[in-house]
Amino acid sequence: MYNIVLFGPPGAGKGTQSEKLIEKYGLTHLSTGDLFRKHLGEGTELGQLAKKYMNEGRLVPDEVVIGMVEDKINETKDARGFIFDGFPRTTAQAEALDEMLSHHKLQINGMIALDVPEEVLRVRIKERGKTSNRVDDQDDEKINTRIKVYLDETLPVADYYASQSKLQKINGVGEINQIFNDITSVIDSY
Ligand code: AMP
Repeated sequence: MYNIVLFGPPGAGKGTQSEKLIEKYGLTHLSTGDLFRKHLGEGTELGQLAKKYMNEGRLVPDEVVIGMVEDKINETKDARGFIFDGFPRTTAQAEALDEMLSHHKLQINGMIALDVPEEVLRVRIKERGKTSNRVDDQDDEKINTRIKVYLDETLPVADYYASQSKLQKINGVGEINQIFNDITSVIDSY
């Protein structure tokens, strides 16, 4: 049973690597970005609320994100563990996650942080924007906001896990399979 936080800036490859990890380890993928996009597509109240933040590249308020993750954890039965992708994005979210997991007598095994330089991120996000239909992938100003929000609000989450000796950094540039192998070496060492 593994509970892993896959961490990194927008465009780091978290989604791509998560897909490969769920296949190998049979884990449940919990991507808050994907959940919000699903709500948006279904036109739910939560989707409406999240929309204005997402479209501007800003963070959805903590209490909204935390409530959504809590529901997802509670409704997932017999999970072999979770890959958290795009969550936690603030220290408050990280604290709430520890609290939620402790109710199920679970904890985070580790955070794997994908390291990708800013100029590579920009190229990747714009490339993805050609096919992703994501408003927030297509416009320089929104991409700038997302990177700034990551640096200001999300990067401290790495310190949170580092202080618990749970942070492992991985080079996120190169062959997808090489990066995947590096990630699995870390997971297999848990
Ligand atoms: P992502 O697909 O992870 O890049 O997320 C897309 C957008 O959804 C973000 O730019 C935020 O607006 C919102 N979002 C996703 N996850 C979170 C989170 N953990 N906290 C706050 N907002 C989030």
